[in-house]
Amino acid sequence: MTPKPKILIVDDDPLNVKLLAAKLPMDQYETFRAYNGEEALEKIAKESPDIVLLDIMMPGMDGYEVTRKLKNNPKTRDIPVILITALDEPEDKVKGLKAGADEFLNKPVHTAELAARIRSFLRLRQYQNQLKTRTESKQLFSTPEEEKKYLQSTFDTPSVLLVEDNDKDIRLIQSYLNGEGYRLSFARDGEETLSRVQGEKVDLLLLDILLPGIDGFEVCRRLKDIEHTRDIQIVVITCLQDLESRIRGLELGVDDFLVKPINKYELRTRLKALLQKKKYLDRLHVNYETAIHFAITDRRTGLYNHGYFEHMLETEIKRSRRHKHPVSLIMMDIDDFKQYNDSLGHLAGDEILKELGKLIKKNIREVDLGARYGGEEFAIILPYTDLEGAKKGAQRIKKIITAHSFRREISIPSKKLTISMGISSYPSDSASAQELVQRADEALYTAKKQGKNRICISPSN
Ligand code: GH3
Ligand code: MG
Ligand code: MG
Ligand code: MG
Repeated sequence: MTPKPKILIVDDDPLNVKLLAAKLPMDQYETFRAYNGEEALEKIAKESPDIVLLDIMMPGMDGYEVTRKLKNNPKTRDIPVILITALDEPEDKVKGLKAGADEFLNKPVHTAELAARIRSFLRLRQYQNQLKTRTESKQLFSTPEEEKKYLQSTFDTPSVLLVEDNDKDIRLIQSYLNGEGYRLSFARDGEETLSRVQGEKVDLLLLDILLPGIDGFEVCRRLKDIEHTRDIQIVVITCLQDLESRIRGLELGVDDFLVKPINKYELRTRLKALLQKKKYLDRLHVNYETAIHFAITDRRTGLYNHGYFEHMLETEIKRSRRHKHPVSLIMMDIDDFKQYNDSLGHLAGDEILKELGKLIKKNIREVDLGARYGGEEFAIILPYTDLEGAKKGAQRIKKIITAHSFRREISIPSKKLTISMGISSYPSDSASAQELVQRADEALYTAKKQGKNRICISPSN
């Protein structure tokens, strides 16, 4: 039911088109094909694909020309263009970059690499949309203060931390990034990296996997585990053959890979794209921080409050309607919370709510929105998520909450804190924000009636 991302494949050689299409899983993507530049432009205007895979050498209008036309048109400018090329000369890449291409892949195209690139572009588009929505609801935030923060974050020099223990490689990468306008610093090993990112602003990590002590994978795992460092973009430097570590890296949340020997232009293109993504993430955070000033945050739990929840649910529904995305809602309620208050006192109850708020905030995705709905009830909005996805998310969060030892729980060891959850989803069971809340609430009521400590989905599914 989620519309599949659309990918346009352009190549003058039908066999190449077929080969590329075969690398894209049909259940995940919808593919379109074009066999020359003119046809590509027509299809793009008609289908507005999410990504274009574009051959460079074609008779008539070549890939560079197509890219230039797309990037000069405000309507198509934001569509990522991946040039697929048999040419391996730096000049060709420079030409592609100047035309405005977002990415290069060499023929023959490596399946896992193609998949990783596509996923990373799709994620970036989600962030763009998300940012647009939050900016659309600007009447909530707009102050001179916010303006200032915005500008600061825009003009901040991006900072790149290179983690490498080989002097020769350090000098090489340093020379490649010369003139790109980044602040480049170095760390020798995993320990140093972990302490550096705590103390200074790092936007991107160029990470060698083989390091003395803590290896690159472990560094990555730890960074993605902490809220404060989760947004740092991680580029892992690997060897071409090492497909296994690439897959492991992807699972750990690595954002991109570079293969040794590193190509200067490839390095620059990848960094540019990822730092752009980081900027989107930072802006999302600036909005969030300013929002606190406007008391849209619930003081007790640190989550959004009821008013902001309602506002954003409306906004998310509108956007999902426009972009034909699903959006889901989880409502949760603490089981027998009255007993905690009765036996521990109201203040201890407050502390449990606060701890639970932190736990929710830490364990939802960047694009999700966690709110205190009221009393001991919480709500989580999950954009781009259908019922199945929401169920998985709910199970994950429930497991984390159930496994958590609340500080105050110790006082009543016989009573482990549990929660009940109700899930609803737009458009599968609800057509509006109001209905979404109503359905999730019904499902929550069912969960309580069936004995609590469980998840129920809206009965309309
Ligand atoms: P159920 O499993 O049916 O949800 O039982 P329950 O006891 O959790 O639900 P009930 O609706 O009977 O009681 C909710 C309790 O939550 C009572 C109320 O005092 C408590 N509560 C609501 N807001 C706060 C708060 O801000 N702080 C504290 N300490 N308690 C709160
Ligand atoms: Mg060709
Ligand atoms: Mg309640
Ligand atoms: Mg309750």
